[in-house]
Amino acid sequence: MTIFNSIEQAKSLLSQLSNTTQHKNLVDSISKELETITVFAQQLTKKSSPDPTISKPEMKSGCYIFANAKGFFCPNCYDNTGNKVATRRLNSKLRVCPICRASIN
Ligand SMILES: [Zn+2]
Repeated sequence: MTIFNSIEQAKSLLSQLSNTTQHKNLVDSISKELETITVFAQQLTKKSSPDPTISKPEMKSGCYIFANAKGFFCPNCYDNTGNKVATRRLNSKLRVCPICRASIN
C-alpha cells in the first residue's frame, strides 16, 4: 500500500460520490486537492528515493534493527555517520549508545 494507492482509492470513492450531483462542488474541490497531493507525493517520492538499494532500517524500541545484523542500533549514529553502533541495555526500559551517549527508551 503506497500513498498513490490511497489517492487512487480516494478518487474512486469521489467519483462514486459525484454521481449524486448534490455535492458536485464539494467533489470538484476535493478532486483538485487530490491532484495537488498527487503531484506533491510524486515529487517527494522522487526526492526520497535516489537510490533504491539504500532503504531506511526498521525501527524497534527506538533503535534501528537490520535484517542482516543482530541487535539494536543507535539511530543517531546511523543517521549522522552511517555507522551501526549497537546500543547497550541499561535496564528493562532504557538503552544507551556508547558513542553519542544518546539514551533511548
Ligand atoms: Zn549513537
